[in-house]
Amino acid sequence: MGTLYTISAPSGAGKTSLVAALLKEMNGIQVSVSHTTRASRPGEVDGVNYHFVSTEQFQQMLAQSAFLEHAQVFDNFYGTSQQWVESTLSKGIDVILEIDWQGAEQVRKLMPDTVSIFILPPSRQALRERLTQRGQDDETIIARRMADAVAEMTHFVEGDYLVINDDFNTALNELKQIIACQRLQLSRQQIRHQSLLAELLQ
Ligand code: 5GP
Repeated sequence: MGTLYTISAPSGAGKTSLVAALLKEMNGIQVSVSHTTRASRPGEVDGVNYHFVSTEQFQQMLAQSAFLEHAQVFDNFYGTSQQWVESTLSKGIDVILEIDWQGAEQVRKLMPDTVSIFILPPSRQALRERLTQRGQDDETIIARRMADAVAEMTHFVEGDYLVINDDFNTALNELKQIIACQRLQLSRQQIRHQSLLAELLQ
């Protein structure tokens, strides 16, 4: 079985770029593509960034218990495909869920072995700048985004690991170390190196 990770962060903390870099550099780990009712942003591709669905389709999937977890984040619904997560983990592949704190909480309850990681920005000012750089310069929108970010950040204490994304490569290395560390746990190594351990102790 692979390990399940949740990675949560306020928007503007650089989570998506970090996860993309992590997947390029590490083998045996994949990210779940969530379903969402929000409209796609320029450059986003259906099936790659998200599965973009209507509210009716989302409700239908919910009724069919298709989601491992789901949540309303701001004004939209988001959900993780249970079937994809389970089949990927059962192939021995690690899975990352890039989800908000509500989703991370649900997943931890269902699967207590989940490793949850929070990523935070290096300062309030840096967060503000990153939220402003998204091309949304309207003050009320920025203030709303800041308030939403603070609401997400208050949940960092619920994670197992905390990464501060000041320098991108440092944060990326820290994420890699967390995953490497989990893979080295005795219970996992015993399975991976079953025949070696048997041979050594003959
Ligand atoms: P965005 O719309 O900016 O891509 O994401 C908004 C928030 O929704 C982010 O905090 C993101 O982590 C969260 N999110 C994305 N997919 C899911 C999901 O499947 N479940 C939950 N609970 N949150 C999600």
